[in-house]
Amino acid sequence: MYTSYLVGDWIREGEKRKDYTPIDGGFIGYLLYPSEERLREAVHILYEKGRWLIRNTPGEERLEILDNAARMLQEHMDELTEALVYDAGKTYSAAKGEVQASIERLRRAPLDLKKIGGEYIPGDWSIQTLESEGIVRREPYGVVAAITPFNYPLYDTVMKIVSSILPGNAVLLKPSNKDPIAPLMFVKILIEAGFPKESISITLTPGSKLEPVLSDRRIHAVLLTGSSETGKKVLSAAGIKSYLMELGGGDPAIVLKDADLDDAAAKIVKGMISYSGQRCDAIKIILAEKEIYDELKDKILSELKKQVKVGDPRKPDTTVGPLIDSSTVDKAFEAVNQALAHGAKLLYGGTRKGSTYMTPVLLEAEKDILDKLTVYKEEIFAPVTLIVKVDNLDEAIRISNRRKYGLDAAVFSKNVELIRRAIRFLEVGAVYINDYPRHGIGYYPYGGRKDSGIGIEGIGYSINYVTSYKTIVYNYKGAKIWDYLV
Ligand code: NAP
Repeated sequence: MYTSYLVGDWIREGEKRKDYTPIDGGFIGYLLYPSEERLREAVHILYEKGRWLIRNTPGEERLEILDNAARMLQEHMDELTEALVYDAGKTYSAAKGEVQASIERLRRAPLDLKKIGGEYIPGDWSIQTLESEGIVRREPYGVVAAITPFNYPLYDTVMKIVSSILPGNAVLLKPSNKDPIAPLMFVKILIEAGFPKESISITLTPGSKLEPVLSDRRIHAVLLTGSSETGKKVLSAAGIKSYLMELGGGDPAIVLKDADLDDAAAKIVKGMISYSGQRCDAIKIILAEKEIYDELKDKILSELKKQVKVGDPRKPDTTVGPLIDSSTVDKAFEAVNQALAHGAKLLYGGTRKGSTYMTPVLLEAEKDILDKLTVYKEEIFAPVTLIVKVDNLDEAIRISNRRKYGLDAAVFSKNVELIRRAIRFLEVGAVYINDYPRHGIGYYPYGGRKDSGIGIEGIGYSINYVTSYKTIVYNYKGAKIWDYLV
């Protein structure tokens, strides 16, 4: 039984859901979640007590707690890795990489602390404010709700918790119910590392049942990573608050005629298949200039043959493990078949291997049918990618910008002027030059535009959404401190 932790207590009663492994559908355990009333009580304690307990813990001590947690994560590397393999279906190397990235994120916490400062504003900017002065400082909002997705359950939890607690907020965490075990383990570690118990809660409440609680005015900020559809629901349910939203995407890779095609093909395939295409920053559309289109296509096909090994993620040579559940595979095949019905061509893959496994798919489509294809218009959270021939960079930019998403783009070229032009015109939150997009590495901030999100997440950036500005004006009129000539 895996249970929710509310301000100091692992709860013992509530409703249950089941958790299965995507590896073979085996039952992992029950997930126990509290009633809405119990959750609201926890929000009350987070608001009345928890936010002050963490705010009154000196910054230096908060850093020490995070450092302790990093050390404990290192000690429990094997158990956390196993949890990610069984609960999320990751390969051992991907799971270990996620634990390592989480440790590094904790260790980089001092960089965030440096950004929580303020500004001094002299009053002599205007006649009305002479003999006064102001400071504008940041302070924690109070209670932050952090909602995380299934694809980086540990890293995303660590990212949101570090950014929220460093400036001194209490946190209500809601992990994905598809694989909540690693986040539960992290909260346990955080408490053992010395974090105030009444400043944190983690609830296994199903997402849809969380909406009424999110509208509680004692929750001041919401950090969400999830699909664009969930983002819209959360915005309308929670009302006026501070938001950081990392939403859906799927990225284009633009390959220009002067690019190193071997390098581009190897990286593009990695960007297509890593974690079975279940990444917001996975490459979903390849836009290649007509002069190199056929050559690039052949190289991508041979890279797919080289890199793809579908199978049980516990086997060391597997590179493409299961998808998170069978309905995700169903949706992927629906979209592939819809594309084929509209005239797209299957170049690679397309075999279902059991309930949660599939061979990655590469589809080829003419540019004039793109607007009819679900795989172009929507995010398919599976290893399904389109390759399209374009006349030039400007056409590639137009096709990228016509999508409702605007997360990242990759550009492969050696021509600095064309790269610079792509940077200027692409409507995305990040442009990766001669590499495939990847958010998890932690040092570079990421964030989407349009349906891909609000704000930018990363070291020194996320704190903007969990802190509020406060202006303080000191009035010394008549005290003769300043001798102005007025
Ligand atoms: P999801 O279905 O949107 O769920 C994300 C989280 O939101 C889960 O914890 C879920 O809980 C919760 N949730 C669902 N409906 C909710 C509601 N009505 N109110 C409050 N919470 C709700 O996404 P996912 O399938 O876990 O993750 C994949 C998505 O995340 C993709 O679209 C991907 O692009 C996006 N993503 C974006 C980034 C980025 O950096 N932009 C990074 C990673 C992932 P339950 O599990 O209980 O439903």
